[in-house]
Amino acid sequence: MPEPAHTPMFEALTVAAEDNNPYQIALRQLENVAGLLGIDEGVHQILRLPKRELTVNFPVKRDGGGTQMFTGYRVQHNTSRGPAKGGLRFHPDTNIDEVRALAMWMTWKCAIVNIPFGGAKGGVVCDPKALSLGELEDLTRRYATEISLVIGPDSDIPAPDVGTNGQVMAWLMDTYSMHAGHTVPAVVTGKPVSIGGSEGRVDATGLGVVLTTQEAFRRQGRPLAGASVVVQGFGNVGGATARLFAQRGAVVVGVSDVAGGIYNSQGLDIPAVIDHLRRTGSVVGYAGSDPVSNREILELPCDVLVPAALQNQITPENAGRLRAGMVVEGANGPTTPDADLILRDRGILLLPDILANAGGVTVSYFEWVQDIQSFFWSAAQVNHRLARIMKSAFDTVWDTGEKHGVDLRTAAYMVGVSRVAEATLTRGIYP
Ligand code: NAD
Repeated sequence: MPEPAHTPMFEALTVAAEDNNPYQIALRQLENVAGLLGIDEGVHQILRLPKRELTVNFPVKRDGGGTQMFTGYRVQHNTSRGPAKGGLRFHPDTNIDEVRALAMWMTWKCAIVNIPFGGAKGGVVCDPKALSLGELEDLTRRYATEISLVIGPDSDIPAPDVGTNGQVMAWLMDTYSMHAGHTVPAVVTGKPVSIGGSEGRVDATGLGVVLTTQEAFRRQGRPLAGASVVVQGFGNVGGATARLFAQRGAVVVGVSDVAGGIYNSQGLDIPAVIDHLRRTGSVVGYAGSDPVSNREILELPCDVLVPAALQNQITPENAGRLRAGMVVEGANGPTTPDADLILRDRGILLLPDILANAGGVTVSYFEWVQDIQSFFWSAAQVNHRLARIMKSAFDTVWDTGEKHGVDLRTAAYMVGVSRVAEATLTRGIYP
C-alpha cells in the first residue's frame, strides 16, 4: 500500500474519556473546535442544544389484529442558515440522543457544502423488516401526521436515512399533501423521480464519497484507478459507493451488510454482488468471494476503507488493527473521538462524515430547489453541480487543515461551525 504523499499536520483534540453516546460525542467535537475558533461562549451555548425536539407516541394497527405503540422523534438542531434539513431513520436502536447527534451533524454538514439549510433528523424506533408493506405505510403516514406540526417546505424537510427509502418519502409527501389539500413536493427529498424527485439523488451520497476520495488522491498525487477499496454496509450509501468506485477503476475487494462480509483480493464484481443481494437479501454467500466477519471487514488491507453502516464502528478497540491507508466516512459518526486520535497517530488519513457524505444533502437541496421552481434538471446537470460543490467544500476543508495544522475532521468542524456561528451572531437574539 503506497504511503500517502501528503497528509495535513495534526493537532491534539482535547477529548474526554471515551463515551459512545452519539450526542456526547457530537458535543465533545463541538467543544474542541469552539475552543480552537475562540467562539463566543453565548453562541457556543446556543449551538450545544437542539433548537426544537418533538417526541411522538402513536398506535399502528397490526395485520394480525390489535395495535402496537411506536415512538418517533424529530429534532431540529439549528435553523440560523435556513430551514432544517435531515434524514429519517427507522431502526430498533434509535433514540433521542442519536437523533440529536445526527441533527447537529446535519447543521455542520449543510454549512460545509454551503447550502442554505440548518440541521435536523428524525427517527422511529422500529424494525422496518419486521413490518408488512401495509404496516410500514401506516406507520409512516401516522408518524408524518404526528410531526406535521414541525415539518414543511419552508421549515423542515426530511429525507431518507437508515431503514427508509424513496417509497417511504413518497408516503410522507402524500400524507402531508392530503392534509394541506394540495400537492407539496418540496416537503421531503429523496422522492422517486415520478413525483418530483431529482435525477441523481439515489446515488448522490455514494458519488460524493467517491468524489471526495478522488480529490484526496489528487492532492496526494496518485490515481484512484487501481486503488483497493473496502466498504462496510451495502445499503443506499455503501451499495452506490462500491458501484461508483468500481466504475472509476478502483478495485473493491470487500463489502458487508448486517449479516456479514465478503472478500476477494482480486476484486469483487460489484454488479454481480448487487444481483446476488437482490436475489438473496444479503451480500453473504456471493460465489466469487471468501466470507469475512463484520469485525474482520474493517481490518482488511486496503487503500480506502469506507464505513457506510452505522455509528461507533471504528473504536479504540479496533483502530490499532486497521490496515487501510485512508478512512472515508460514508456513515455518520462511524469513528469515535478516541479512535480518531489513534488513526491520526498512525498516519491514517480520515475524510470526515460531515464532508465526505455531504453529497446526499447537496442533491436533496437541488431536489428542493427543483420542486419549488417546478423546473427539473437532467442527471448530467445534477452531477456536474454536485461535483462542483463537493470539490469546493473539499478544497476549503483541506486548505483550512493545512493553514491551521489540524486534521481534516477538525478542519471540517472549523469551516462548518464558524459559518453557523457567524449566521447566529449576525441574526442576533430575539427579542
Ligand atoms: P441503509 O439502511 O440503506 O443501509 C445500511 C446498510 O448497513 C445495510 O446494508 C445494512 O445491512 C448495513 N448494516 C447495518 N448494521 C450493520 C452492521 N452492524 N455491520 C455491517 N453492516 C451493517 O442506510 P443508508 O442510507 O445507506 O445509511 C448508511 C449510513 O450513511 C448511515 O450512517 C446514514 O446516516 C449515513 N448517510 C446516509 C445518507 C443517505 O442519503 N441515505 C446520507 C448521508 C449519510
